[in-house]
This record gives sequence, structure tokens and C-alpha cells, in this order.
Amino acid sequence: MRQVETQVLVIGGGATGTGIIRDLAMRGLDAILVEKRDLAHGTTGRYHGLLHSGGRYAVKDPQAAAECIQENQILRRIMPHCIEDTGGFFVTTPWDAPDYSDEFVAGCQQAHIPVEEISIGHMLRQEPFLNPKISRCFRVPDGTADSFLAARANVESARQHGAQVWTYHQVINLLKQGDRIVGARCHDLVNDEQVTVHAQMVVNAAGAWAGLIAATAGLQVPVRCGKGTMVAMHHRLVGTVVNRCRPSADGDVIVPTHTVAVIGTTDEKVDDPERFAVEPWEIRLMLEEGDRLVPGIKDMRVLRVWAGVRPLYEASPAETTSDRDVRRSHMLLDHETRDGMVGMVTMIGGKWTTYRLMAQETVDRVCEKLGCDRTCRTHLESISDAESAYYHRLAAPLARVEDEATYSQLVCECELATREQIERAIVEGEARTIDDIRRDTRLGMGTCQGGFCTYRAVGLWHQLRRPPVAETNVALRDFLQERWKGLLPALAGQQMRQERFNEMIYLNLLNADHLVGEQASRLGCVMYETEAASGEVHED
Ligand SMILES: Cc1cc2nc3c(=O)[nH]c(=O)nc-3n(C[C@H](O)[C@H](O)[C@H](O)COP(=O)(O)OP(=O)(O)OC[C@H]3O[C@@H](n4cnc5c(N)ncnc54)[C@H](O)[C@@H]3O)c2cc1C
Repeated sequence: MRQVETQVLVIGGGATGTGIIRDLAMRGLDAILVEKRDLAHGTTGRYHGLLHSGGRYAVKDPQAAAECIQENQILRRIMPHCIEDTGGFFVTTPWDAPDYSDEFVAGCQQAHIPVEEISIGHMLRQEPFLNPKISRCFRVPDGTADSFLAARANVESARQHGAQVWTYHQVINLLKQGDRIVGARCHDLVNDEQVTVHAQMVVNAAGAWAGLIAATAGLQVPVRCGKGTMVAMHHRLVGTVVNRCRPSADGDVIVPTHTVAVIGTTDEKVDDPERFAVEPWEIRLMLEEGDRLVPGIKDMRVLRVWAGVRPLYEASPAETTSDRDVRRSHMLLDHETRDGMVGMVTMIGGKWTTYRLMAQETVDRVCEKLGCDRTCRTHLESISDAESAYYHRLAAPLARVEDEATYSQLVCECELATREQIERAIVEGEARTIDDIRRDTRLGMGTCQGGFCTYRAVGLWHQLRRPPVAETNVALRDFLQERWKGLLPALAGQQMRQERFNEMIYLNLLNADHLVGEQASRLGCVMYETEAASGEVHED
């Protein structure tokens, strides 16, 4: 068993953990982050993609609204290449109470969120597919963010400052000596070996899994797992984030992200952050609500669906009446003052948009506990380098391919991922699965959902890594299964035809199901449960 020592061990490679490791490293602390899968494997890689202006919380949660606009402005400054400056609308549809819009404007003004009412004509010139029956439209500085890119950018910056980040290292249990947490025992999933990390402080940033981590040391962290389902439409039907101007409810936002538009989301309590169903009623509801914003959307082509789990801290059951009432803002749990257990803090809740602030508060407390006085600089120093110091633009990948004349080198035509990018992810990156390459390059995320690029990427993988053939076959099957996971719950129409075609390529022509090797690896995906298995009955 490997034994390693560090000052601070961070558990979880989502937005929170990667933000924390950067902050720790920038303050000169010796730190290691362990993530059980790839970076952004958890909620961070399954979220809606919205860089909140705070407008969504302006009426109900002024503190969250103020945090969002403050962090929105900081993230635009420090990591513009991870953000698209789409802007956002809050619109009053015929189904929304007209009075809410005045409360909304007052809330925005109080939280210092820039808000401006624009005419419906102006709105329709910018977004012609929006419902012409919308009666009011307010512009706010919402944006969209690429959480995969942001997690990697934070980790690269942390490494440049001396931190270590280990993916595919799963914490099995915390190490306890008396009333002190002294590290964690991890399983290196790739090499199948145990690693013990001894640390002066442990930071539990495992999101919806934080309660499970704490429980291994007998600590209770009540997490309410609030599942949200999102539906990605085949086209980017809006270029602006469009929110309903009403109290938060299911299906009230459409987010344009890269080449698609994503309708979201629901909020359903689930018991397990890893195993849950995407229910047919959720998809229907998203399409129906989306149709109120963009008439006709419910009959358009659905690309795929996915779901993530909100790590909602549940202070006490008496405080809440429904999932949406649980406080969205983050919570730092100091297990020394809370449970008499020295050596660990848990950061839980919050939003992607506020991850940097959550990291700052966590590291402030860690420094206090370790007795070092070092101030945060993550809001001052840019993560983007000089070349990438601009917002992401939708047209940028196409412009790059045209500049470099690499049309003939495209591995993934839908997402314009070139051979050079895929090779770099395989050779220089940390990809352990084809799905990790997807997170690095957007391989397989477009219209054909991997139909044409999967076999090419797997070919390059085999050529460059030279694993035994059986391993390559399993890597292929794992990725096909992962794509199938998000297609299956919503398969219909054109996408069904596309998938039938993919099936003929992989199962009929390449015989992928019967090639030598295991059916799936332990790094493969966990499929969504079927409706029946989830035990829920919905009458709709
Ligand atoms: C449906 C939905 C939509 C959302 N939309 C938005 C949005 O549009 N804008 C916004 O700002 N916020 C949004 N959020 C909130 C935001 O996504 C989350 O608050 C944020 O991503 C949480 O990040 P995290 O790092 O705390 O958790 P996670 O990203 O879940 O990271 C925790 C990590 O811990 C790892 N882990 C778990 N167990 C172990 C173990 N034993 N050992 C090692 N590692 C382990 C997991 O693999 C995971 O990668 C949304 C959330 C949901 C659910």
C-alpha cells in the first residue's frame, strides 16, 4: 500500500474541489485532490450550464442573488475562455403572474444586478423563436459556462502552483485517530491498489456524496439529493439564456450551450446520488414548459437527456416544506466545532457560479486551523492565459478549423474536434476512458451522438496507447453505453433513426457486442434506473 503525506487533502474533483485546490496551492499550501472518476464526473459535469446573474434568486434569496452577481463578474474576469457572454432574459409569459416582474426588478436592484426592460419587438429581433405573447422582457447579465473546461483550468493552475491532483482515486474511508481525522484511505481504480493519504486537514468537497464520505468516520452530514433532469434540443434555438419571470419552478429556463439549447430542470428528491431514473414525465414536462417560451419546441428533435443531483444541505427537516425551499446557498461545516472532530471541514451546497467564493471561504478556514495567515488571490489572478483571455464564441471552433485548414482531420464532425485535439487528449491528457476524451474535446456530443467519431477515436486510442485488444474493445463498449444512457430515455423521431443507424454501424457491422473482452469495465457508466426500478409512480 502506498503511503503519502500532505498538509491538506481535498476530496472531490467537481467545481468546489477544483476551486479549493487552486486556492490552497496559490496560498502556498501543500495539497492533494482525489477524485473517484474524471474531473467534473459528478454534478458539475451534469448541470445546466448557466452562469447566474443572480436574477433567479432576486426575490426569494437576496443573499444568493448578491453572491451570484459578485462571482459572475469575477469569473468573467478570471476565466473568460470558459464563459460565453450570451446575456439573459427574464420574460413574463401568459402563464406567469404579471405582478412578479415588479418584485423581480426590485430584487435585482437591491442585489445590484444590472437589469433593463426591453420592448417585445427588441426581444423578438434578438430571439425570433420566442413566444410573441410574452408581455414583458428584462435583460440581465446571465451567461453560460463550460464546467469541464473550468475544472481543468483550475486544476492546471493548481498544478502550476505545486498541487497534486489524482483522478480515479476513490476515498474508501476517512482515517480517524481518537477525535481527529488524519487522512483517508483511497482506492486507485486504474492500478487497482490502495493509497493512504495522511493529512493535517481534510476538506470534504464531495458534493452530493459528502454525507457518504463523512459517514465513514461516523459523522452525519445531512444532504438532500435533489435530482434535476435536463433535455438538450438538437438546435440552438436561442442565443440568450431565457428564464421565466416567476418564482423558480420546473422547466423555467432554456440555456444555449455550445451548439444546443437545454431545457431544465426538475427537482426531485432521490436517495442515491449515483442511481436514479430519468422519468418520462420529466421529459414531457420540460418540453411542455419549454413550449411556452419557444412555441413548437415540444415537437422538435430532442438530442439527449441527462440528470444531475443538487447537493442541498438539509439543516433540519422542520426548516423546509419542499425541495425548492431548501437553502441553495452554500454551507461550511466545521467538524471541530460542530462534532468535536478535529481535522476536517465540509463545504456543501451552493452553485457552480459561486464555486470560487465557496473555495475562498473554505481555504480561509483551513488556514485559520493550520495557523497560517495567507490571503486569497483567486479573484485577482486570471486562469486564462493571454491567448485565451476572451469569452468563448460559438463560431470559434469553426474559425479555428478554417484557419488551420483541418477539415480533413476532423474526428468528430458535429463538434469539430480535430485529430490533433483527440491525440493530445490521449497522449498528454489524463484520459482513462473514451468518455474522458469527450469531456476534454466534446467528442460524440453532437447530432450523431458518437455514430461517426467513436470508432475513429477508439482507433487512435489503440494506436497511441497500445493496450491489449480486449481492453480497447471494452473502452469502445463503455463509450457506446455512455452515449446510449442519455439517448434511451428520450428516443424518438429523427434521433431514433440516427440511433438505429449507429446501431447498424456498431452492432451489425463492427459486431461490438461480441468482440473479445469484458462486456463493461469498472470505469464504465452507471445507467439510469428504469422508472419501475425507481419505485415512483407518477400519475400524469
Ligand atoms: C440539475 C442541476 C442543474 C444545475 N444548474 C446550475 C446552473 O445552471 N448554474 C449553476 O451555477 N449551478 C447549477 N447547478 C448547481 C451546480 O451544478 C452544483 O452546485 C455544483 O456543480 C456542485 O459542485 P461540487 O463540486 O460541490 O459537486 P460535484 O460536482 O458533484 O463534485 C463532487 C465530486 O466528488 C466525487 N466523489 C464522490 N465520492 C467520492 C469518493 N468516495 N472519493 C473521491 N471522490 C468522490 C464525485 O465523483 C464528484 O466528482 C445545478 C445543479 C443541478 C443538479
